[in-house]
Amino acid sequence: IGLVQAFDPEVAAAMSRELTRQRQNIELIASENIVSPAVMAAMGSVLTNKYAEGLPGKRYYGGCVYVDQVENIAIERACRLFGAKYANVQPHSGAQANLAVYFALLDVGDTVMGMDLSQGGHLTHGSPVNMSGKNYHFTSYGVNENGVIDYVELEKAVKKVRPKMLVAGASAYPRAIDFEKLAEIAHGYGAYLMVDMAHIAGLVAGGCHQNPVLYADVVTTTTHKTLRGPRGGLILTNNAVLAKRINSAVFPGTQGGPLEHVIAAKAVCFGEALKPEFKEYAHKIVENAQALAAGLQARGVKLVSGGTDNHLMLVDLREEECTGKELEARLDAVHITANKNTVPGETRSPFVTSGVRLGTPAVTTRGMGPAEMKIIADCIADCIWHFDEKKDEIAARVLALTQQFPLYE
Ligand code: PLP
Repeated sequence: IGLVQAFDPEVAAAMSRELTRQRQNIELIASENIVSPAVMAAMGSVLTNKYAEGLPGKRYYGGCVYVDQVENIAIERACRLFGAKYANVQPHSGAQANLAVYFALLDVGDTVMGMDLSQGGHLTHGSPVNMSGKNYHFTSYGVNENGVIDYVELEKAVKKVRPKMLVAGASAYPRAIDFEKLAEIAHGYGAYLMVDMAHIAGLVAGGCHQNPVLYADVVTTTTHKTLRGPRGGLILTNNAVLAKRINSAVFPGTQGGPLEHVIAAKAVCFGEALKPEFKEYAHKIVENAQALAAGLQARGVKLVSGGTDNHLMLVDLREEECTGKELEARLDAVHITANKNTVPGETRSPFVTSGVRLGTPAVTTRGMGPAEMKIIADCIADCIWHFDEKKDEIAARVLALTQQFPLYE
C-alpha cells in the first residue's frame, strides 16, 4: 500500500481502509481466507507484464521461458497435492474452470444434473441466470428434510433424467460428500462425474475430506477458499483424453492470456499446502467449525443438518423473527462478517433469507482456536436475541478478540 500511496493516494486510501476492515473484523465468510505474504507477493510481481497464450513449451508469444518454469512448477505441485495426473492451472476463477469443463465435455443443449442453488449448489451448476443454465439443460437435485444429500433419491433422479454429466460439490453444504458413491451412481448410468471441490479443496489437501480426484472424471476448484491461495481456478483429471480437451477449452475455448502472476501465487500456495503444517491447519479448520457449531447449539441456535463435518455451517432462522438479511447486518455492525444464505425449505425471498452461512477458514488462519469459537458463538447468539441491549458490549468483545490476533503486522 505504501508504494501505491506515493503515486495514487486516492486508491491507496481505499486499500488502507480495507486493510483496517480486515484487521478489525472477524471474518466468517466460508469462501474467504487470508493469504500468506509470499502468495500475495507473487501476485503483485513482474509476471503480470507477460503474455503467454498457450501452454508451457507451446506458447504463441516469445520470451516465455521463465513463465513456463513457473507454470510447470504450479502444474507439478497441483498434481502432487491432489494425486492427479493432469492439471490446468490457467482458469481465472472457479466459474471459468467450470465453464471450461462444460465446454470441453458437453454439447450445447445436453442434459446435466447439478445441486440446486437454493439447496447449497453454485450458480455455475445450472442456475438459469448463469451461462451454465442458459447453454445446457440442467436439472437439479437437493437435500432431504434433514438437510443432507439422499443418495438413494439422487440415484433415482439420475436413472430417470439420464444426464450426460452429474455435477457435485457445493457452496453451502455443511456435510461430507461421498464422491465414491456419486461416481458409482454417475458411471452406472453412463454419465460423467464432475466434482467442483472449490469450498473443500483445502480440507482435501489436508486429508480432512475424501479426495474426489480418486473417483471423478474431472475435478474443478477455486484456489482461494480453504486452499488459501490467490483468487483463481484449477482443473484436475486423470484422463489423458479429457485433459487434452480441457486444455483446449480453457485456451482458446474460453480464455485468452493466462495470469502468470496469479499462477505463480498458485504455485506458492500449492507449495504451502504440501507442507505438513497445512495438514494441521486443515484439521484446525474442522475443529474450529465443530467448536463454533457446538457453541451456537449450546445457546439454542439451530443449524441446518444439525451441525457440520467441514469448514462451514448454516444458521437456520426459519423459526426466528430475525432474518438472514437482518442477522448479516447486525453482525456487520459489531464487526463480524458473514453472509445471508437461503436454507433448505426456505420460505423467505433470496434477498432476505432464513439463513446465515458461517465458516472458519479465515479465523483459523488468524490463529484462533476453540476457546475463541465459543466467544464468537456467544456474540452471534446475542446478535440474534439481544442485539439492541447488547450491541456495544458485543462489539467490545469482538474488538478484544481481533486485537489479540493481529493481522499482517
Ligand atoms: N464453485 C463453487 C462451489 C463456489 O462456491 C464458487 C464461489 O463461491 C465458485 C465455483 C466460483 O468461484 P469464482 O468466484 O472464483 O468464480
